[in-house]
Amino acid sequence: MNANLFSALRAAFPADLDSLAIQPADGPDTRRFYTWRDLDHASARIANLLDSLDLPPASRVAVQVEKSVEALLLYLGVLRAGHVFLPLNTAYQAAEIDYFIGNAEPAVVVCSGKNFTWISRLAFQKGTAHVFTLNEDRTGTLLDRAAVHADTHTPAVKKADDLAAILYTSGTTGRSKGAMLTHGNLLSNAQTLKGYWGWKKGDVLIHALPIFHVHGLFVASHGALLNGSAMIWLSRFDPKAVLAHLPQATVFMGVPTLYVRLLAEPGLTREACRNMRLFVAGSAPLLMETFNEWQQRTGHTILERYGMSETVMLTSNPYHAKDGERRGGTVGFPLPGIGVRVRDDKGQALPAGEIGGIEVKGPNVFAGYWRMPEKTKEEFTADGWFKTGDVGKIDSTGYVTIVGRSKDLIITGGYNVYPAEIEGYLNDMPGVAESAVIGAPHPDFGEGVLAVVVPKPGAALDGAALVAALKTQIAAFKVPKQVFVVADLPRNTMGKVQKNLLREQHKAHFGA
Ligand code: AMP
Repeated sequence: MNANLFSALRAAFPADLDSLAIQPADGPDTRRFYTWRDLDHASARIANLLDSLDLPPASRVAVQVEKSVEALLLYLGVLRAGHVFLPLNTAYQAAEIDYFIGNAEPAVVVCSGKNFTWISRLAFQKGTAHVFTLNEDRTGTLLDRAAVHADTHTPAVKKADDLAAILYTSGTTGRSKGAMLTHGNLLSNAQTLKGYWGWKKGDVLIHALPIFHVHGLFVASHGALLNGSAMIWLSRFDPKAVLAHLPQATVFMGVPTLYVRLLAEPGLTREACRNMRLFVAGSAPLLMETFNEWQQRTGHTILERYGMSETVMLTSNPYHAKDGERRGGTVGFPLPGIGVRVRDDKGQALPAGEIGGIEVKGPNVFAGYWRMPEKTKEEFTADGWFKTGDVGKIDSTGYVTIVGRSKDLIITGGYNVYPAEIEGYLNDMPGVAESAVIGAPHPDFGEGVLAVVVPKPGAALDGAALVAALKTQIAAFKVPKQVFVVADLPRNTMGKVQKNLLREQHKAHFGA
């Protein structure tokens, strides 16, 4: 049997190939829409173009383009031709692109026309033979060249453990690593989520996430495609555009920042969400306040899930009430077929409720880091579990809570401080919208605790008063030595707070 992920997605297309598959909601021409037949034909043309280049099997196709339906079709075409899709964040600049092209050695690079000069020079120098362009407005050499090819194509035969994609991790420390995901990893996860989140006939997804990342490319797109569900396609997140389309949609997926921005819109009401079935959040922690406010405003309970580039989705709050309640502040239960355990740094299993390193196992866990066998080995335990690098706990009823990243853990005077715990206390204080707790080198303690907080609109905060208030609540060693009040926390496109930037900014604070 052909385990090509594309074949499974293609088999899920509805019988009526002329029905709506993707409706762009912004961009050059919102009157244009894509049928399932268009998806089939366009991905075939791209696959035929790739076939015509006589590439070695499983060649990497590196793609740094703005989000467009055609960029998704390129992903499908790459899968169909049996090559390996390598999406790159549009924010990456020359030094990063240079590293990725050198590391991945793609046979084909696809970039925006505006970047062609420098990216092609770089790629050709490193031995890439083909560089195409693809622009947001459906122009560029990729589509020009694909247009002359046939619109039928038999998907390349793939085994479940053949590579489908490489995702470079966001890499807040050290060099970014290429997580190798197989056809089997991606399909098994998509099938699990289809069942667990109750995808059904008639569902319509608002797709407002970037497609260079696991959330938008895999969780969102695969979810809709594997269910034969139409997508309302936003090339960039715009809260007003999302609101305008909510009445035609049933499913929305977003990183926490998107929910915060939607809450700032007076138009977000129960009425606007009347046809919605499911709101999913993930990629970064969802604040309790956002979770509660969303419930009050819309009558819907956000379903928070947890995953990562290396594993796709790992845990999820329940969709069906019979499986339990959606509990804010937690990431729910391990998904069916996926093992999740918590162990201490000596590899001892920890009892319910105790905090330790999260390790996982399942058909979704990646095949290793591209060309880093040593690094890969380090990240797996002797009995084959992947060490996520996340710190968390599983309570006695099975709910998983993420406390932070192990590299965010602060060790001050020999005591462990989990930033998420302190952030929780800070976020509960009047006038605090959000916070980030970091460690900075300290001459006596190794690291000293510092906090950065953002006030709620109209609130005036005093850092010293917050420190004094914390002292009455928690152990002194956990209390930040100083609290800085700022307008915004630095975030990447997936809504993750960039603690590495905060650490860099405050590294000289204690003069160590
Ligand atoms: P990435 O590989 O870029 O998707 O980043 C994965 C990391 O994001 C995970 O290892 C977690 O640290 C974090 N993450 C993902 N989902 C959640 C969530 N729901 N709550 C807290 N952290 C999350």
